[in-house]
Amino acid sequence: MTVEDLIVDGKKKVHSTHAKMLLADLLNKNPLELTTILDEEVPEEIVKQYQEKLTSLQQQKPIQYVLGNVNFYGNLFKVNDKVLIPRFETEELVENTLKFLDLFENAKTLIDLGCGSGAIGITLKKKRPDLEVTLLDISQDALDVAKENATNLETNVNFINSNMWDNVEGTFDVIISNPPYIKEDEEIEDIVKNNEPHLALYGGKDGLDYYRMILKDIRSHLNSSYLIGFEIGESQKNEVEQLLKETLPEALVITKKDLQNRDRMVFAYHF
Ligand code: GLN
Repeated sequence: MTVEDLIVDGKKKVHSTHAKMLLADLLNKNPLELTTILDEEVPEEIVKQYQEKLTSLQQQKPIQYVLGNVNFYGNLFKVNDKVLIPRFETEELVENTLKFLDLFENAKTLIDLGCGSGAIGITLKKKRPDLEVTLLDISQDALDVAKENATNLETNVNFINSNMWDNVEGTFDVIISNPPYIKEDEEIEDIVKNNEPHLALYGGKDGLDYYRMILKDIRSHLNSSYLIGFEIGESQKNEVEQLLKETLPEALVITKKDLQNRDRMVFAYHF
């Protein structure tokens, strides 16, 4: 079968963009390049993999899991169903954290709580190689993915398998987290609910369990100057700001909106 045959077949089964993304990925090409090789014969083994992946997409698997990777802030991260798929909003958490870091000149140590694939911590390490970065997750499967990503992206970071602070010693200048924050009974898209790890999505009755867990012991893990950055659900601004202010009365607390004008990141800092 030729590239063209496979695209025609794929388009009958899934969205044409997805069909081209799959085939391009298997052929190590950019999707736009496919038009230049339409007449080329595709090896049997790749045809088979393509058909299998089309079936997975037809079964409502997310394209990122089917491809096995996702672009986050310019780098390709491996993902599988043990980790949350990194979202665009989380790139904005990284972007805003980098802006705060420009103002926090003495920052040396950073921990990413609930790192999943490692997208946040590894990206920050790549942008700020001077920081000592630690990635923490309760899931060893997630840490295995994060380790692979750190190796592939040539970043030297530390790893801790822990339920938040349980196995953590020492203090940090920067604490970043995109914890599970979806409310127990919140309606979410089927493709998310049926495929992504619930451990990484749900944050208890009001979605705030993990912010409480982080903040409960945060004081003993903070240096005197610090920056904290949390991703939040769009309705959680007031509660998370309140929790931060109660725990750290000296901090300045500020919520940032994402590109869709939703409240999605809360920062607390004391420089
Ligand atoms: N942003 C994710 C979603 O909307 C949720 C991530 C999280 O709970 N941290 O599905």
